[in-house]
Amino acid sequence: MAKRKAMIAGNWKMHTTVVDGCQLAVDVAKFCTGFEDREVLIAPPFTILSEVSHVVKETEILIGSQNVCWEEKGAFTGEISPAMVKDAGGTVAIVGHSERRQIFAESDDLVNRRLKGGLASGLLMIFCIGETLKERDDGRAFAVLADQLRKGLHGISPKSMEKVVVAYEPVWAIGTGKTATKEQAQETHAFIRGFLEEIYEKNVAEQTRILYGGSVKPDNVDALMSQADIDGALVGGAALDAESFGRIINFTL
Ligand code: PEP
Repeated sequence: MAKRKAMIAGNWKMHTTVVDGCQLAVDVAKFCTGFEDREVLIAPPFTILSEVSHVVKETEILIGSQNVCWEEKGAFTGEISPAMVKDAGGTVAIVGHSERRQIFAESDDLVNRRLKGGLASGLLMIFCIGETLKERDDGRAFAVLADQLRKGLHGISPKSMEKVVVAYEPVWAIGTGKTATKEQAQETHAFIRGFLEEIYEKNVAEQTRILYGGSVKPDNVDALMSQADIDGALVGGAALDAESFGRIINFTL
């Protein structure tokens, strides 16, 4: 099997204006030096997608949106369409982030529609899943993840899976400073890969990249990335600091 290319993705959430977002992109680009084994993505707020993509145009950095609608246009107040993401220079979209699920009550069905819409337009899709602390403490983490995978990937063909990256983000580790241990993360990633094999086939499971997200920092990235089933990181807080994100991008095994 060809080695899966690593991906380090920075989710800027609802941070940065035009001026500081463009500066952050310029600073991050200094840490990207002709990688062959990894991709770097930044997902700025919708309002500066276009400016930031312009700034990184000559670099290897990919631009993604933090969410995407399933329709190309229409009466969908507050949404952004796949066509708009592409028009702004984006090639990637994140869906199913736990903040969308928890704060904005996005259901598995809605996430599935977003995922299908983005795929239909040719975007590379980062599909987030993750259990809460209570679910983990109750011993239900794998059941919850299986349910999110089954519902979120409903109707998505094995071929389309080439454009899907799964991000495992335990809700209890996002923005809390608590990271899953490398063993916990590896065990969960192996479970996710096994489940993909069950609902698709071995090839799909082996080719699908699974990112870990949840307080990834310069001092834990190397250990996490050294795990067999961890193919990258989705980074929140540390992606807002160019030095930290630069170190994460330059993880070593
Ligand atoms: C995230 O928002 O996807 C995330 C993982 O955030 P943080 O790195 O801050 O925990």
